[in-house]
Amino acid sequence: MTTDTEHSTYLPAGLPAPRPLVDGLDTAFWEAAARHELVVQRCNACNGFQFGPEWICHHCRSFDLDWQRVSGKGRIYSWERVWHPVHPALKNACPYMVVLVELPDAGNVRMVGNLLGDPLQQVDIGADVEAVFEDHPGEECTLVQWRLVGA
Ligand SMILES: [Zn+2]
Repeated sequence: MTTDTEHSTYLPAGLPAPRPLVDGLDTAFWEAAARHELVVQRCNACNGFQFGPEWICHHCRSFDLDWQRVSGKGRIYSWERVWHPVHPALKNACPYMVVLVELPDAGNVRMVGNLLGDPLQQVDIGADVEAVFEDHPGEECTLVQWRLVGA
């Protein structure tokens, strides 16, 4: 298993790459990731954050939503060590780590990603993590992954 160097990926090749939705709802997120920036949807009416993106604010029902760049600093809200491959490409990639990361500077919205590094590492709830932008040049895609701060 590899980590976050420029041309390696946490999970093996062969998985379907995420694509921006055809309606444009999440285009800003993927474009920002390609620039190695993390953005979260924010409401211009009530300043509330939300993720994943929606056409309407979950807090006040305004349609006046925008995107705000955030620090990429987070903390582990939950995690899972995956032992069973859910796709043929993952046959020899287990175990791997999936984390649910909370973003304190974005209203504690949560994002799912992989936790880079040793898949058998000990993981503490509340541990500080930071976003890592994993480029997939052949698939024109950049994934947001996570690593422990100081790791
Ligand atoms: Zn709102």
